[in-house]
Amino acid sequence: MTKEYEIVMGLEVHVELKTKTKIFCSCTTEFGGEPNTHCCPVCIGLPGALPVLNEEVLNYAIKAGLAINCKITRYGKQDRKHYFYPDLPTSYQISQNDLPLCYDGHLDIEVKGATKSIGITRIHIEEDAGKLIHQEGLGTLVDYNRAGVPLIEIVSEPDLRSAEEVKAYLQKLRAIMLYIGVSDVKMNEGSFRCDVNLSVREKGSDVLGVRTEIKNLNSFQSIMRAIDYESQRHIRVLEEGGTLVQETRGFDQTTGKTYSMREKEDAEDYRYLPDPDLMPIVIDDAWINSIKDSLPELPDERKDNYIREYGLSSYDAEQLVASKDLADYFEEAVKLSKNTKTLANLLISEIFRFIDLEEFEEPFPAEYLGELVNLIEDGVINISTSKRIIEEMRKSSKSPKEIVKEQDLEQINDRDVLSPIIDEAIANSEKAVKEYRAGKEKALGAIIGQIMRATRGKANPQLINEILLEKLNN
Ligand code: ZN
Ligand code: MN
Repeated sequence: MTKEYEIVMGLEVHVELKTKTKIFCSCTTEFGGEPNTHCCPVCIGLPGALPVLNEEVLNYAIKAGLAINCKITRYGKQDRKHYFYPDLPTSYQISQNDLPLCYDGHLDIEVKGATKSIGITRIHIEEDAGKLIHQEGLGTLVDYNRAGVPLIEIVSEPDLRSAEEVKAYLQKLRAIMLYIGVSDVKMNEGSFRCDVNLSVREKGSDVLGVRTEIKNLNSFQSIMRAIDYESQRHIRVLEEGGTLVQETRGFDQTTGKTYSMREKEDAEDYRYLPDPDLMPIVIDDAWINSIKDSLPELPDERKDNYIREYGLSSYDAEQLVASKDLADYFEEAVKLSKNTKTLANLLISEIFRFIDLEEFEEPFPAEYLGELVNLIEDGVINISTSKRIIEEMRKSSKSPKEIVKEQDLEQINDRDVLSPIIDEAIANSEKAVKEYRAGKEKALGAIIGQIMRATRGKANPQLINEILLEKLNN
């Protein structure tokens, strides 16, 4: 490859809202259930049944819009988007065409130590479709339980340039939806789904290439793999002097390849028309302001606080606010501990290794975490012992203090106890001592390792260093 290419991506994310009832009827939105039991004449599209908009859908959608810095329309309407597919009982989807509920927002992401702002074109409300189940021997079955579950579709500007940026954007968006409580955003249950619009162009060019849309990606891993495959495919076609077709493509998880599904429809193919059964949507300032007042503290505000008040790095702070439950847990422990930096380090370097950040559940009470930090701060234990205690806390429900007492883990801070152990280690390390005296500072590591083993990791590391240097330099 001689030329350098740039990938240009925009995302369409569908988020199922967790209102109690569907968007145009009073059926439950609960996931699963026996097929076609969460249905009524409205959501299976029987002739003569009339939709009525669920006001709660507007509350949730406006909340989502405000949380990602969108403007909210004062006048909106709902349109029929026509396409014939059996998962839509009416053969049109009620969506929004030219007057979306929210528009012109942005979402800031952190990638490679820099903050980048991704434009949000619009958010519109629409109904979800049913589910087709293809069964060997039976043909295709349809389950309308999901038909009419409210969705917001969040459309971004083509501001994304790498799979890494896409991941950061989706994680942030998902975190915000959880913070504001409008969706349970479970990718495996389809309540958070992503389509990627992708094109490739020569670096430096300001003309967009031909774009393809990859549909229905339902895990972070599939999204990353699909982007990788599809961008390479575009580059290959361009290098070979071929032409790309604007089309919708699927992603096959077993082969890791994308495949053509259909030529892309343009807006006119959908024959949008205002739904005559639904009233216009009229929103006033008081309504918007009351939703604004109900917004919780959002990830970016929390992050700024962590940087300003606790002196954390932007990267560390971003990780801690990634889930609301995690950030709540961290803040509870902050109140109980003497050193926030030590606390953040323990969480990120030790505890992140075994917790699920997407579905955070506290591994042990926040008080214990605070207590553990204080034991380190007070010199009762050292950092390496704290790791052992964390392992122990995962298995038992004991507090750090109890574990220290039971297993005799207190740090050895007594010179008289350490001195003979250090003498012995020096006597056993002729080679390392020689190397050290010849100017190789690193040789000390082997001697310190011996002392740590002899004390079961409990020796005070600073004190060992001090005594060892005294002895060697005399
Ligand atoms: Zn219904
Ligand atoms: Mn849509």
